[in-house]
Amino acid sequence: MDIEKEKNDWSDEELEAAVEGYLKMLAIEKSDQKLNKAHENRLLREGVLINRSRVSIEYRMRNISTVLHDLCLPYIIGYLPAKHLGAGVTERVRAAMIAKGAFDPDDYAPTADDQVLNAKVLKLEQRKLVGIPRGIEKPQRVSGTTSSFLRDPLIKAWVLQNANGVCEGCSQDAPFKLPNGLHFLEVHHVTHLVNDGPDWVTNAVALCPNCHRRCHYSSDRDEFTKLLYKKVERLRVE
Ligand SMILES: [Zn+2]
Ligand SMILES: [Zn+2]
Repeated sequence: MDIEKEKNDWSDEELEAAVEGYLKMLAIEKSDQKLNKAHENRLLREGVLINRSRVSIEYRMRNISTVLHDLCLPYIIGYLPAKHLGAGVTERVRAAMIAKGAFDPDDYAPTADDQVLNAKVLKLEQRKLVGIPRGIEKPQRVSGTTSSFLRDPLIKAWVLQNANGVCEGCSQDAPFKLPNGLHFLEVHHVTHLVNDGPDWVTNAVALCPNCHRRCHYSSDRDEFTKLLYKKVERLRVE
């Protein structure tokens, strides 16, 4: 069977059935019960997916893993994220997942509003982020009273979670905790967004307010930034 052609023929109903099957399997895996993928696959083919092959259902499951992986959500280990989904397919798989309540797309929508960003980040930080978020290569500029950029809340949440309350500049503990118990650190883009820096984890660090101000205002800001590149291994010079 031509899998490319077949892929496009999936109805919304079929995609939703696949997502439902996937979420059921994910729940089994999370609860540490033994997951029998072949059995679940068979069950799906006895229902709405009666016209689909075992292999094409497995491929669809990998599409679903891709969507979860892109959101740093846990996915089924046995279904590795498939690369190169057609954009249309991704959108339809995503829509089916949203319809089934797999995630709230608003949590992940980029924003240029600092308060909105922080609210999203707080929510995302409550869970263990899986893998590394992709971020935004060229954050879009939004004009307002002060011009700012559309940023990916996952990037800020990941950088803060990864720092775990310790400033990546001076290695000191964050100066205080927020009312929700999380440590207060700021996230700085080493190549500033205004200088075309990407909103990527390879260009963002978690800093205490002192180190952050130092990056922007100090007489030794260039040297300090060089030190950051040396100290924080994931950073890449853009
Ligand atoms: Zn510091
Ligand atoms: Zn900054």
